[in-house]
Amino acid sequence: MLRVLRIFVQSLFILIAMVAASLYFLYFRRAPLPAAPPHALVAPAISTIPGLAACWIETGKTFSNFSFGSTAGSILVRHPAGDLLIDTGNSSHFAEEISVYPFWTRLKLKSLAGELNPKVPLPDLLRRRSIDEDLAKVRWVILSHVHLDHAGGLMDLPQMPVLLTREELQFANDPEAQAKGFTIAAHTQKFPPASAPTLKFDATPYETFDESIDLYKDGSVVVVPLRGHTPGSVGIFVNLSPTRRLFYVGDAVDDERGFEERVGKSLILQDSDNDMALANQITGRLSELHEKVPGLAIIPAHGRSAYKKFFPGGPLTCVSGQ
Ligand SMILES: [Zn+2]
Repeated sequence: MLRVLRIFVQSLFILIAMVAASLYFLYFRRAPLPAAPPHALVAPAISTIPGLAACWIETGKTFSNFSFGSTAGSILVRHPAGDLLIDTGNSSHFAEEISVYPFWTRLKLKSLAGELNPKVPLPDLLRRRSIDEDLAKVRWVILSHVHLDHAGGLMDLPQMPVLLTREELQFANDPEAQAKGFTIAAHTQKFPPASAPTLKFDATPYETFDESIDLYKDGSVVVVPLRGHTPGSVGIFVNLSPTRRLFYVGDAVDDERGFEERVGKSLILQDSDNDMALANQITGRLSELHEKVPGLAIIPAHGRSAYKKFFPGGPLTCVSGQ
């Protein structure tokens, strides 16, 4: 009897050690990356615009009680000249949309992006009392990139103008990207047609970037290229006041460790980078920016702890510059 118990305890111990080791190798272990070549900093002049606010609309989350917890959803920017939704999280029809894929692709999509599926669809969250957003006020949706866990929520929204770069629009329609399930053919119906005008960067340096677009022409929302994770990934600065600023970087990094420790993506997510060398360079540049502008809140799309710091009230709350 004692022998059986000993074998049981030993097997349990081995099993726990194996699970811990796989978690470590798949998720927690990150490769250190080289520093980016030093880049001149062009600090913008920022004014506080009355009525400007940012709201955290979380549609999905995992491990929310832990510091490494993930999130997905949208950031709503309220602007007097019309609101902006940044990313949209997963579609509430995720399961149907991926049903066309072979078993192993479906399993992978379900166990990674699918873990962040919305419990409540995005438009219903926007209508909640604490947010009380009128969808008619949304002027644009901007996507950090077109991967399914960022573009899917568009399927729950009425047709809206979607801001994308030319490269990203082409990537969304790329049969190879669609075959891997990174982008979903059904989502392209919500994107502008291939011939439509796309986001074009001006040769205006901004912080440590050489190109930028000032979306409202008032310095409140500035978009910069972050090519690497996908060919047309972008990052979005939201400047609520000179001291309250966020920089939403999509999936350029997994979480804050990316730019704080200057490390690459976890093994489990490396495969999602379209061009890993370029993506790693971007991480180096974000780490440089973090050192040079420590007051700027860099928010990775899935880095829940970064949201919690910028939005101390938690999901479904707003922060303004005043
Ligand atoms: Zn993502």
